Amino acid sequence: MRHQRSHTTALLFLTVLIAATVSAGSIKVVVSGGTEKIESYEAGELTYFSFSALAGMLGGTLDWEMIGHRINYVEDTSRFEFVINSPFFRINDSTYNLTFPAEFKDGQLFLPAETFLPFLDRVIQQKITWNRESESIRIDSEYFNVVDLSLSPKANGLLIDIHLTQALAYEVFVTEGNWINVSIRDGKINAARIRSRENKRYMYRLKTHQAEGSGQVSIRLRRNVEKWHHKLVYDPPRIQISIADVDFQLDTNETGSTIGPDNLVDVIVVDAGHGGSDYGAVGRGGTREKDVTLSIAKELARLIRKDKLFKVVMTRDRDKGLSLQQRADIANSASADLFISIHANSSTKRQVRGWNVFFLAEAKNDSARAVAQLENSVYLREENPLQTHREGSDFNADEDPILSIINEMIMTEFQAESYDFALMVDRQLRRTLKIPARGVDQAGFFVLNMVFTPSVLVESGFISNSQEEKLLKNKKYQKTVAEAIYKALKSFKAKYEG
Ligand SMILES: [Zn+2]
Repeated sequence: MRHQRSHTTALLFLTVLIAATVSAGSIKVVVSGGTEKIESYEAGELTYFSFSALAGMLGGTLDWEMIGHRINYVEDTSRFEFVINSPFFRINDSTYNLTFPAEFKDGQLFLPAETFLPFLDRVIQQKITWNRESESIRIDSEYFNVVDLSLSPKANGLLIDIHLTQALAYEVFVTEGNWINVSIRDGKINAARIRSRENKRYMYRLKTHQAEGSGQVSIRLRRNVEKWHHKLVYDPPRIQISIADVDFQLDTNETGSTIGPDNLVDVIVVDAGHGGSDYGAVGRGGTREKDVTLSIAKELARLIRKDKLFKVVMTRDRDKGLSLQQRADIANSASADLFISIHANSSTKRQVRGWNVFFLAEAKNDSARAVAQLENSVYLREENPLQTHREGSDFNADEDPILSIINEMIMTEFQAESYDFALMVDRQLRRTLKIPARGVDQAGFFVLNMVFTPSVLVESGFISNSQEEKLLKNKKYQKTVAEAIYKALKSFKAKYEG
């Protein structure tokens, strides 16, 4: 009896194994004038298709870098970078998550159709649609004629180009609230691509509207539109609108604002690290990093709200899991002036102690690199949210292709301000905390990389050290950390505003 049951279990297991294996096949690609077939395979619920084959049909070039297992695809103005076996990829300067890894088979790059094709559609100058039922990709090359938008800040104003595939009749009108509206006759707007050009530094909103017989692009600028001018430019065809700064008067009436155009430091985003099924590091006494970060973040938010110098936005105010993209989206859509991510550190060496403040730049030493690995590891495993174990991180910075990409794609734009703010936090923490100061350091944190504003990450102590674990869950200690950060916020405001 017992023997028979285990036999059945073994059979069942085998059946499951067979069902989960990859089944090879092909999918259809419908292009103007015909249908072609490209290699594909099913992996569970997903359809992986040969991007090498699709790239050949789209045009552009596909290059291999065997070192780093990287594959680059360049099409027109877009550059894609994939890493074999990684779900992360880049388009130009931004990092995205495919949820499932890029795969390499028979000399070709395979990507999951469901999660990759929407990204491709957003970026390239052709409309790409994936039809799950018929297992086909449709490419409409000549579909759009209003294809892109670009912004060029000038010393005395701003230049906006709306890119067309051909000369089209248009009208520009400015409405209250510094809205610039461009109505294009017979315009077919690549809405996703144009909207992806929204830049919070220069605009509050960017909208598109597709109607029968015309398309409209509307931009609400962060500056007064008093003196403006437009013309149709050829080669390549585009509508060019220039907005002159009238004695550099800028609109500062809205709550959302950034350093730069409006010179206000007023929106602070407080990010409590981890949450939900991602516990972060867990101490020997059972203290979870996600709870410590939330307590400190809430205390900091309370202090910020109290004297009304700033507006505070929290990425989470309860125990809740957030993706990297969600954290970045919250900060970017709030037009954060500063982004502060709160964490607690962990080491396999139990005697290691102290706090650090990090800003985003290429790691210069192994210990900083190790902290970034630890904090990034959860996002590398985002495809499997149940897997939250992260003690003794098991990958090597020098060999890990993702980390080498991160180190390359460091956003340098806010580095000086981020470093300055890190120093201010450091100064305050040194004054008030009794535990060892590990000081300011730099490393490539995913979460800071996607935030379009000065940002720091505070490691408020080692949860892996029993003494510091006790401190980290202590209300008084949490309050001291929050107060130090708050004082640094005031110093930053005093220095950068005006
Ligand atoms: Zn953490």
